[in-house]
Amino acid sequence: MTTDAGLTTATVRRAADAPPLISADDLPPARHFVDGKFLDGSTERVIDVVDPSTESVIARIPEGTSEDIDRAVAAAVAAKASWARLVPKDRSEVLHAIADRVAEHTELLAKLESANTGKPLAVSRDDVGMTIDTFRFMAGAMRATTSMAAGDYAENHLSVILREPLGVVGVITPWNYPLLMAAWKIAPILAAGNTLVLKPSEQTPLTTLKFAELVADLLPAGVLNVVNGYGAVAGARLAEHPDVDMIALTGSVNSGRAVARAAADTLKRVHLELGGKAPVVIFPDADLAAAASSLRTAGFWNSGQECGAACRVLVHESVAEEFVGQLVDEVRALVVGEPQAGEDVEVGPMVSKAHFDRVTGYLERAKSEGVRVATGGGALDGPGYFVAPTVLVDVPEGAEVAREEIFGPVITVEAFADEEEAVRRANDVPLGLSASVWTENARRSHDIPARLDFGTVWVNSHLVLASEVPWGGFKGSGYGRDLSVYALEDYSRTKHVMHNHGS
Ligand code: NAD
Repeated sequence: MTTDAGLTTATVRRAADAPPLISADDLPPARHFVDGKFLDGSTERVIDVVDPSTESVIARIPEGTSEDIDRAVAAAVAAKASWARLVPKDRSEVLHAIADRVAEHTELLAKLESANTGKPLAVSRDDVGMTIDTFRFMAGAMRATTSMAAGDYAENHLSVILREPLGVVGVITPWNYPLLMAAWKIAPILAAGNTLVLKPSEQTPLTTLKFAELVADLLPAGVLNVVNGYGAVAGARLAEHPDVDMIALTGSVNSGRAVARAAADTLKRVHLELGGKAPVVIFPDADLAAAASSLRTAGFWNSGQECGAACRVLVHESVAEEFVGQLVDEVRALVVGEPQAGEDVEVGPMVSKAHFDRVTGYLERAKSEGVRVATGGGALDGPGYFVAPTVLVDVPEGAEVAREEIFGPVITVEAFADEEEAVRRANDVPLGLSASVWTENARRSHDIPARLDFGTVWVNSHLVLASEVPWGGFKGSGYGRDLSVYALEDYSRTKHVMHNHGS
């Protein structure tokens, strides 16, 4: 990897004398987890798991096949009736026990996550903390969630509305938050009384397998199954499987399309959390320093590999120059490094060589099209797939970098002249996951979010999440909601039972 000269200012802090993050004993079994046991797969083929900070192979996991998926689905089918019969209190206690078990192993899970993704340890610890909270929230919410009251709505007929589990849910997770995205699915799916088969990203299976190992004794066999493998094989089989009642994917738009197509033949339910391209709309009355400081985190958290990342600033032309100055100062101060290079590391590498090439490709094309680099703008010295925290300015309307999800440490800045233009341009992307609006004006703080086509809109903030509130997108960002009681609803079905009690 070469260093781009020009404006690339950051350097990668190395952890030359630090002990390795993980040892061989910390690794989970490199197998599939099916019917309560770690099992070999149906082939000898393996997938290399790479540490993106060092480019070294840290594990080899089996490449799952359709047969491996079928075996796991059969286990989930066999387990579903008895798990569904448990009363909420009993399922809730299992979820609390899972939260406790994860909490006891926070440091181990955080280190494994950082070794597999290159994330700063602070980010991995935050992921584990949110994982615990997701299980605790779902354990409580499922006990408090009721259906519509029973009553007579037709003469002499009593209606009772039941909330039932769907059965078996297939889950496909991405590499950017491997453990947390698994938890966002597993917790509500189990809470709602379903069993599941989960396929983690082929690049980042370690914390999901470790989670299965840690909670194996807490769940009846077959309730949770994990099959490794590639999306086009193992993921595709899960999406089309006739005994899978719903398929839930967090991933890219293209994978979402493939999953929805594969699910169509069996008409199974589909739940899609896809990409984002969050606009950050800054009005002239905004607290510019607060916005710049917030974007230092919200734009570069998880190295910008974040579906809600604050990646596309639309700032009023009267304050654009002042704001860019403040933003660039914040971005230049970011600490880039390997996970064990210090507690203050804020930005790690891209997750893989392929993704590094993708992100640097966007930067090269933008530069050749005349977009100006205010800071960063290219790769940092290897080993590892590090990209300099970047701010691109003078970005013309409709530019590739302003429309497509780069999924790296890159913020683009465009200027607008009035409210109408700000709303039109903010909405002019195919994705609709999240956005933020920065203003001290009370009218704008309600009116602009109401006109934005995004599933979450923050006002004077960005990327703040809580287990009680829903997360999910509009338009090309998919449908269905993670977190909150809306996720519990998504993973259950409504049945109406009507009793004739007339004589
Ligand atoms: P990806 O789509 O490449 O992979 C996600 C998962 O889908 C992996 O497990 C992969 O193996 C599987 N997959 C790929 N092709 C498939 C197919 N044809 N059939 C079935 N499964 C298939 O995504 P990624 O690169 O791992 O993750 C990054 C993407 O995820 C970004 O677009 C990001 O915005 C999105 N994401 C969204 C959210 C959200 O909440 N909306 C959260 C995190 C990530």
